[in-house]
Amino acid sequence: MRPMQHSGLIIGGGIAGLTAAIALRQRGIEVVVCEAAPAILPLGAGIWMAPNAMQVFARLGLADRINAAGVPLRGIEVVDEQMRPIMRTDQARVRAWFGHGTTAIRRAALQQILMTEVGPEKVELGRTCTGITEELQGVRVDFADGGTRRADFLVGADGIHSRIREGLFPGVRPTGSGHLVWRGMSEVSLTAHFRQAIREAWAEGLRFGFSEVGDGVVDWFAAVPAGFGSEREGLLARLQAAFASFAYPVPDLLAAATEAAIIRNEVLDLQPLPHWHRGRTVLIGDAAHASTPYMGQGGCQAVEDAYALALCLAQHPTNPTAAFAALEQLRYAKARRIVLTARLMGRAGYLYGAAGAVRNFIIRATPRWITEQQFRGVYRLDF
Ligand SMILES: Cc1cc2nc3c(=O)[nH]c(=O)nc-3n(C[C@H](O)[C@H](O)[C@H](O)COP(=O)(O)OP(=O)(O)OC[C@H]3O[C@@H](n4cnc5c(N)ncnc54)[C@H](O)[C@@H]3O)c2cc1C
Repeated sequence: MRPMQHSGLIIGGGIAGLTAAIALRQRGIEVVVCEAAPAILPLGAGIWMAPNAMQVFARLGLADRINAAGVPLRGIEVVDEQMRPIMRTDQARVRAWFGHGTTAIRRAALQQILMTEVGPEKVELGRTCTGITEELQGVRVDFADGGTRRADFLVGADGIHSRIREGLFPGVRPTGSGHLVWRGMSEVSLTAHFRQAIREAWAEGLRFGFSEVGDGVVDWFAAVPAGFGSEREGLLARLQAAFASFAYPVPDLLAAATEAAIIRNEVLDLQPLPHWHRGRTVLIGDAAHASTPYMGQGGCQAVEDAYALALCLAQHPTNPTAAFAALEQLRYAKARRIVLTARLMGRAGYLYGAAGAVRNFIIRATPRWITEQQFRGVYRLDF
C-alpha cells in the first residue's frame, strides 16, 4: 500500500511559490497557494532567467513557452561606459553545455505562464498570512482576514520580508547595501549589435544594465549610490545627468522612459540563515536566501529550490521534516555561495577611479576558462 501523501500550503505566489506549486503537483502532491496581493502583480520590470532556471523549466515542460514569450539571449557582457567589453559569456557555448542559455522575459509574462500552469483555482488571492503555529499533526496558518488553514506541511515563499521566516527565526532582517536600483522599460529599437543580449555597463560608481525582453521593449536598470537620492522628483532628469557620459544606447533608453513607470528597488540581501526549516515548515526563494541582484540569480535560485523541494517531498512523502533536511542538503551551499558572491560583485562593480581601472584590468586579464568555470558552477544543477 502507498503511504498516505501529505498535502501542503504555500504562502506567497511569486516565482518561488508558483514554481513550487507546479513542481509539487507534477509529483502528485496537492498544494494550495495563498498570496497576499489581490492579484498576481509582477514586481519589477523584466527578469533574466539563467540556464539553471531554464533547465528546471524544461523539466517542468515550461521552457518552450518561456522562450517564446521572452528573448533567448546570444550573449551577456559586462562593459565599460563606452560599451567596451570587460567580461563576456558566450551563450552559444553555455547552450551547448546545458541545453539552455539565458532568457530575458517580462515578469508579467513569466508570472502569467506560471499562474496558468498552476491553475487559478489553486491560488487564493488577497490572503495575507499573519502567523503560524506548529501543531501535533501539522501547521496552523492564520490570515489577516480572520481565516485559518491547516496543512501537513507549510512552504514559506513570501519573499525577502517573509512573515513565515519571522515565525521560524524571529528578528532576522534584510541587510541594506546602501545602493538603489531604478528599473524601467523603454520602447526602443536597438541596433543589431545590442539585440538579444544583456549588457551591464560599469563606470564611476554607477551601473546600467539592459536587454530586450520582447516586442521591441528593452528592460533596463540604473544602479546608483546612496548619494543620488531616493526621491522621485526630477528623477528622470537626474538619471539622464548621472548617465550622460554613457555611450549608446543608454541615453536613448532613458530618453524613451516614462518617468512615472520607473520602479525603485533598495538593494538588500539576507545574511545566511542557520537553517531553512523547522518542524513542518520550510522557507524557499528570497524568504530563505535573498541576494542582491548583481548575479541575476535570486529568481533562478528560487526556481531551483522549488524543483528540489518537490523532489525531496516525493522522496519522503510522509515525513516533511526529513524532506526539508534533504532540501537543505541539496541547495543550501549553492544558494549561500550566490548570496555572498553577489555581495562581492556588488562591491566590485561600484569601484571607481584607479580601483575601478585595476578591477577592469584584472577581469580582462582573467583567462576565459576561469570565468567560464565560475559560470558553470552557477548554471549546473546538482539534482
Ligand atoms: C532590481 C532587481 C533585479 C533582479 N533581477 C533578477 C534577474 O534578472 N534574475 C533573477 O533570477 N532574479 C532577479 N532578481 C531577484 C528576484 O526578483 C527575486 O529573487 C525573486 O523575485 C524571488 O522570488 P520569490 O518568489 O522568492 O519572492 P517574491 O517575488 O518576493 O514573491 C513573494 C510573494 O509572497 C507574497 N507575500 C509576501 N508576504 C506575504 C504574506 N504575509 N502572506 C501571503 N503572501 C505574502 C508577495 O506578495 C509576493 O507575491 C532581481 C531583484 C531585484 C531587486
